[in-house]
Amino acid sequence: MNNTVICPGSFDPVTLGHVDIIKRASKMFDKVIVAVLVNMSKTPSFTIDERIEFLKIALGDVDNIEIVGFSGLLADYAKERGAKAVVKGLRAMSDFEYEFQMALTNKKLNPELDTVFLTSDSQYMYLSSSMVKQVASLGGDISFFVPESIHAKVYERLKTGTRKETLK
Ligand code: ADP
Repeated sequence: MNNTVICPGSFDPVTLGHVDIIKRASKMFDKVIVAVLVNMSKTPSFTIDERIEFLKIALGDVDNIEIVGFSGLLADYAKERGAKAVVKGLRAMSDFEYEFQMALTNKKLNPELDTVFLTSDSQYMYLSSSMVKQVASLGGDISFFVPESIHAKVYERLKTGTRKETLK
């Protein structure tokens, strides 16, 4: 039986919340394709190559995970790769409406494709890539939020974006 699933996202950058969801999915399914969005509506802070590299470092120890760049319709890509479900993490209530809408849209476009939601670990419930970027750009400690193996690289890249404005 084919048990391939897809975890899509921007991963700009990957956080411990993402890693938790992807690793849990890798224990439930034969293969997990982590599909990194190439074209995002918002300009990403990290290039597609950087986002893929960080994921590879963070998840390198798990052998049933494949990390790929992806553009176009997820419903089509899932069909092309023979994936039977999309796996997504659900955080606080704010994720629910958008994710529900996405899941129903994907199902309409590809009726074979289901969406499976895993509840966020309570310690990562309020963690997002944008929060990591904000904390790092202001010089804060991001070690609670991103995998230790990429912590220094992510911090170096983000802190250079710090604006040198001062209060009068
Ligand atoms: P973000 O919302 O942080 O920009 P992405 O677009 O990269 O993240 O999200 C990819 C997937 O990971 C989505 O399903 C999202 O709900 C999930 N996700 C993101 N952060 C977390 C977290 N802290 N805990 C659980 N799931 C998460």
